[in-house]
Amino acid sequence: MFHWENGLKLTTADLAIDVRRRQPRAFISHAHSDHMARHEFALCTPQTAALYQLRLGPRRTLEMPYRQTIEWGGLRLTTYPAGHCLGSAMLLAEDQGRSLLYTGDFKLRPSLTAEAAELPHADTLVIESTYGHPDYRLPPSEESLAEFFALVRRALADEMVPVIQAYVLGKSQEITRLLTDAGIPVLQHRSIYEVSRMYESLGCPLGRFERFRGRVEPGWAVVVPPGTPLTELPRQVRFALTGWAMDRGIKYRLGVDHAIPLSDHADYDELLQAIDRVAPQAVYCTHGHESFVDRLLDLGYNAHVLGKPRQGRLF
Ligand SMILES: [Zn+2]
Repeated sequence: MFHWENGLKLTTADLAIDVRRRQPRAFISHAHSDHMARHEFALCTPQTAALYQLRLGPRRTLEMPYRQTIEWGGLRLTTYPAGHCLGSAMLLAEDQGRSLLYTGDFKLRPSLTAEAAELPHADTLVIESTYGHPDYRLPPSEESLAEFFALVRRALADEMVPVIQAYVLGKSQEITRLLTDAGIPVLQHRSIYEVSRMYESLGCPLGRFERFRGRVEPGWAVVVPPGTPLTELPRQVRFALTGWAMDRGIKYRLGVDHAIPLSDHADYDELLQAIDRVAPQAVYCTHGHESFVDRLLDLGYNAHVLGKPRQGRLF
């Protein structure tokens, strides 16, 4: 039903999945740049279609709302929420009694700005396993958020500006909503602001936020893409919210004062939980630690690495 050719392809439908190079026909699981290209024709959820075209200009798309099965290229195709960012989708492909679920980037923990993930059963599971190592068992989100808000409030009390580094699409909007729900208004970098406006027009409100124009009033936080210098702000406390916060010394590599473990990807336990729920006969892992496949084999799964040849610790 599928093969690997510089990326995952559904053989019957000749459909490329989350491929970064232009394709005649592609499925885009979500609008992160490492999952899409200027395809001739793309299948995706309506939210992803809007975000894809915001980022790459007008393109031909076939919109696939969640849970509405279509017949396409000899397959039955259905999207399910992936919980990663607004519009992110898993893809279930069915062909004469056989089924394949491709997760794309996903997480199971609840989010304020992404639809809660749903995992249908499939015979074959292709799973994105970025955090497939026990080092990436993230603490409960409430714990990480309590730490984050304590640090943000302390910064504000000290008349410092909390500056949060976050990816333009998904993480920035989630952080904005977390802050505005806590009564802290947000200034956003222009690139983030454009995506946030689209989130709101797609029915995902983010609270009180405005575009950053070089000045910050007391009591406001600022959200910028990673590595954006704000030299005009002398007194700032920098944050990154990422699963990589589990790595020692990461804050120095990211150039922040505080790295908080909060991710929009499934952590190690969520990966195992997802596989258990899908109950597949075969699991193919993309991204992450190769030891995860060994762990799955130990647990009795028929597990494989999918994609590039093994390179050091990562595949
Ligand atoms: Zn992503």
